[in-house]
Amino acid sequence: MQESPTLAVLNRATTLISQGVDVVDFGPGEPDFATPRVVSEAGKAAIDSGYTKYTAVAGIKALREAIANRYNGSYGLELTQANVIAGNGGKQELFNIMLALVDEGDEVIIPAPYWVSFPDQVEFAGGRPVYATTDADNHFRPTLANIEAVASDRTRGVIINSPCNPSGAVIRGEEIEAIVRWCAERGAFLIFDETYELFVYGENKHVSAMQWFREYPETIIIVNSMSKTFAMTGWRLGYAVAHPDIISALGKIQSHSTSNPSTIAQYAALEALSGAGDEVQKMYEAYRARREWLVPALNAVPGICCADPDGAFYVFPDVSSYFGKGGITDSQSFANFLLDEARVAVVPGKAFGADNFVRVSYATSMERLKEGVARIDAAVRKLG
Ligand code: PLP
Repeated sequence: MQESPTLAVLNRATTLISQGVDVVDFGPGEPDFATPRVVSEAGKAAIDSGYTKYTAVAGIKALREAIANRYNGSYGLELTQANVIAGNGGKQELFNIMLALVDEGDEVIIPAPYWVSFPDQVEFAGGRPVYATTDADNHFRPTLANIEAVASDRTRGVIINSPCNPSGAVIRGEEIEAIVRWCAERGAFLIFDETYELFVYGENKHVSAMQWFREYPETIIIVNSMSKTFAMTGWRLGYAVAHPDIISALGKIQSHSTSNPSTIAQYAALEALSGAGDEVQKMYEAYRARREWLVPALNAVPGICCADPDGAFYVFPDVSSYFGKGGITDSQSFANFLLDEARVAVVPGKAFGADNFVRVSYATSMERLKEGVARIDAAVRKLG
């Protein structure tokens, strides 16, 4: 396994920042907000109460039931703790899922652009990532047709991430239903990663594959996280919701790797699920306002073409009009150019399987957004 060379630009940015250089950092994939106070207080209270020992591998009953009940309330299900495993971030559960379900040579379909870890996790498990092309004009929303076009008799599963990191794409309910049915008919699994479920804007609505779980409990595996919704990235708490047999398999793997996720984080997460609604709403409003400012501001920069992303906290502008100018040949050299000439850090789209684009995170203050866009504007104007 290699660290992605396309992320080297972010490492350079980090080095420059540590040297005191004023870099506007549009790289981070994490909220710029503090964890809500009630959540942090619950973490402190857990320590004071002595909740500092091992728990069951899959997490404490109260947390798993709270997660199950959240879905039961929304979708009229009767999930129990047996349907839920908590882990050290959604990332760990995704990793467990690949190890549990993907065998040597199995193909897993991943619509591009995709979150960077999906392909590596599939490969680590011995599988082969197969990329489905999506259409920028359709906001990069994956369709069943996109998936069918690359399916084979080796297809073992499909990964859908909605809202999508990096494109923001929010897949429509009809399309999810069609993909779920297609997976079920072939005996393939559908991993539905809804880590950014809260961050959906305008006319778009988040629809979870959970809506079809009653009918297809052996097909659908939900992955979710406390990281983005509750600004809890460092607590490392995410979870998977699936058929008890799948959860049991994930638990076996987890029992030999990390055991339970941090006990303290579990108690904090339990509080977040019931008591952080107002704080979460405030964060959402801030993201919405930033996005509203950022999309037209980037489009006003000559050469940048920035579609309105459906969700998440990223915009994903097309920067290919600069290719061929000033030594820029791809998203990576464009990102290096911005870092050198504008002291602005963005993530090259190549890392996500979309080389004409860069990812700009607006998980930063409005003031820094304005400064960064002004710097980008000044730098690209020099390219002519
Ligand atoms: N899924 C997606 C699409 C993500 O962007 C991330 C984090 O960036 C994760 C899962 C994992 O998040 P965590 O491990 O912090 O729960």
